[in-house]
Amino acid sequence: MAKPPAQFCSFCLRPRTEVDLLISGHKAEICSDCVEQAHEIVHAERTSAPGKRASNELKLIKPKQIRAFLDEYVIGQDEAKITLAVAVYNHYKRINQAGKNKDDIEIDKSNVILVGETGTGKTLIARTIARMLNVPFCIADATVLTEAGYVGEDVESVLTRLLQAADYNVESAQRGIVFIDEIDKIARKGDNPSLTRDVSGEGVQQGLLKLLEGSVIGVPPQGGRKHPEQKLIQVDTRQILFICGGAFDGIQRRISDRLSRQSIGFKPQGKTRPNEEDVLQYVAPQDIKSFGLIPELVGRLPVVTYLSPLDASALKRILTEPKNALLSQYQKLLEMDNVHLKVEDEVLDLIVEKALEYKLGARGLRSIFEAIMRQEMFDAPDSGASELIITREMAEKRLAQSQFGSAA
Ligand code: ADP
Repeated sequence: MAKPPAQFCSFCLRPRTEVDLLISGHKAEICSDCVEQAHEIVHAERTSAPGKRASNELKLIKPKQIRAFLDEYVIGQDEAKITLAVAVYNHYKRINQAGKNKDDIEIDKSNVILVGETGTGKTLIARTIARMLNVPFCIADATVLTEAGYVGEDVESVLTRLLQAADYNVESAQRGIVFIDEIDKIARKGDNPSLTRDVSGEGVQQGLLKLLEGSVIGVPPQGGRKHPEQKLIQVDTRQILFICGGAFDGIQRRISDRLSRQSIGFKPQGKTRPNEEDVLQYVAPQDIKSFGLIPELVGRLPVVTYLSPLDASALKRILTEPKNALLSQYQKLLEMDNVHLKVEDEVLDLIVEKALEYKLGARGLRSIFEAIMRQEMFDAPDSGASELIITREMAEKRLAQSQFGSAA
């Protein structure tokens, strides 16, 4: 006699009549309650054993791999890429060896300062690294932070953002990357702080120091101001990588001065004094200190590197080369309307010329391109054409009708 089909859950053995749903598999059934319970067990197991489960393990990515990944998204900036690739590699090596230390050698944290004009790719590099490592990432603006007691955001709010990026998974946030932008704007004003009442920034620097040096910080889950009744989430910042960025306007002067002081009595043969543009490559922690960051903070940001201003050829490459280059984005958008977009090379030159003319750098490329493409994207879906070619003449006409119309 054939065996009647099973009418009960193979896990809890309850009959079909007592369960919501019975799911049949090969020679077994499972009820909806057991599915839910199994899900909870899997979830608890994954989150409670950090470092043991694949999803929690930090895969060590070698500096050359990091650099190759950065190359796909960021044009130029070789020095910064190499420096960051090494810093990030060392940082995560340090995390992976935590707790396994057999000798007494403690590896120090390698927080980083990126010096470079706005729009040269500082945020882009930091964001790209975080994406590659698949760790939580957040951007904080140093200028909105204030000392406790003043209007603005507490320094701890930086960590609130990181927690939010990690969906409030503290374990995961503690291995994240924080990018603090405009760090130069909280520099101490004036060279001698004791003689001036302007101590703006210094309190914030002290606050940041606490985060950077690695300690357990009480973080308000929703950000804003801390208040006494609020429940705080404890976050250990020892393994969070901090990358700080700033334009440090005028730092070239300080670097030049230092270099000329250093070279008194010793002039390497054949070396002339570097010009303002090239001097950035010599940036060192003492220049950051002389700019007005307190020595303790500079000490916690031991890796200093720079990003060069982007010239016309770099800007043109940014339009076409990165994985998500603007040109590819417009091509993809129009592909969805079955239109093949071709942009003549001279149009790309025009976009770059305008970006330079308006001193917008890489940040301006998008709005200029958008001004050229707006009408075309409006017309394309109904035009019935399978190809759209943008010529320089067309682009000039579109720009003349836009906010970029009047020459600067
Ligand atoms: P910063 O942080 O230095 O002010 P961002 O990284 O925010 O500048 O750059 C602004 C935008 O300009 C980026 O989103 C990116 O589209 C573009 N960009 C800037 N620099 C580069 C670069 N070196 N390579 C590719 N794109 C860049």
